[in-house]
Amino acid sequence: MNTLIVDVKRNSLDDGPGIRTVIFFKGCPLSCVWCQNPETKLATQEISFNKEDCMNCNKCFEVCEKGAIDPTSEYRIDRDKCNLCGKCIEICPNEALKFAGKEYDIKTLTTLVLRDKVFYDNSGGGVTLSGGEPTLHMDYIHQLLKEFKKENIHVCLETCGYYNREKFNNLILPYLDLIYFDLKIFESDLHKKYCGVSNNIILQNFEDLIKNQQVEILPRIPLIPNITARTKNLENLRNYLQSLKIVKIGLLPYNPLWLSKTKSIGVKANYNRTNWLEKEEKEVIKKIFSSFEFKDF
Ligand code: SF4
Ligand code: SF4
Repeated sequence: MNTLIVDVKRNSLDDGPGIRTVIFFKGCPLSCVWCQNPETKLATQEISFNKEDCMNCNKCFEVCEKGAIDPTSEYRIDRDKCNLCGKCIEICPNEALKFAGKEYDIKTLTTLVLRDKVFYDNSGGGVTLSGGEPTLHMDYIHQLLKEFKKENIHVCLETCGYYNREKFNNLILPYLDLIYFDLKIFESDLHKKYCGVSNNIILQNFEDLIKNQQVEILPRIPLIPNITARTKNLENLRNYLQSLKIVKIGLLPYNPLWLSKTKSIGVKANYNRTNWLEKEEKEVIKKIFSSFEFKDF
């Protein structure tokens, strides 16, 4: 069984306890306008172009039989003409062109992950399933988690919460140790406007997990100026979390570096905040969540 994975990142200290390997699955059912990992959004393979690594040698232009390379364009590739043959990637001398998304079978991925088992054991770490949205790959992940559990590896799932609950509860939940569950916008119509779907399924899934108490859950809120990080939205989310007796949350500060990643896969961004959160903005947010436990940001 194979699935598309964008990256397997070793030695991460930011995606759960201890030292972790993070697996970024490809494809997401949401389409958040600020997506921090835009190269994981589409469920199919893509090519990314990193302008900073390009030496302007034009070898890609010469090798492309489809006329899909335009050296004068900041996006470089005409994605309507490209058939993903990979010849430009092979010839590029500085890895400015790369595939976003590579097929991994369960055995290869398990072997990769097990290389660092000693670090997981010594640091209280493990593996984090991220993306994209890992739950788009439920059957694959079910098989993968069975292998991880044989080796007693701690598993954390990062999810947007938009999944089939019955399938999730059967195939994935029993193998998890920790869930980072993202909550973005409380108002359903605005959730649909900025994330592409209403939040009804997400909130129902979240409440089901809280009710079941089968696994540790950390709700996380990405702080996107003028979208999620509006006072009204944050107060609504705070009240909602308090009503569920939740005391600990994750607050994820806005990171504008996603804008260059978006350009690298030929997509025009619909949101253009280029600076990080200001100190004053952070203070307002911290005050709203002052009754909760959270890591400073
Ligand atoms: S992958 Fe193939 S078709 Fe696409 S731009 Fe590169 S050489 Fe051209
Ligand atoms: S082959 Fe690579 S380095 Fe050369 S022009 Fe193309 S993208 Fe740039």
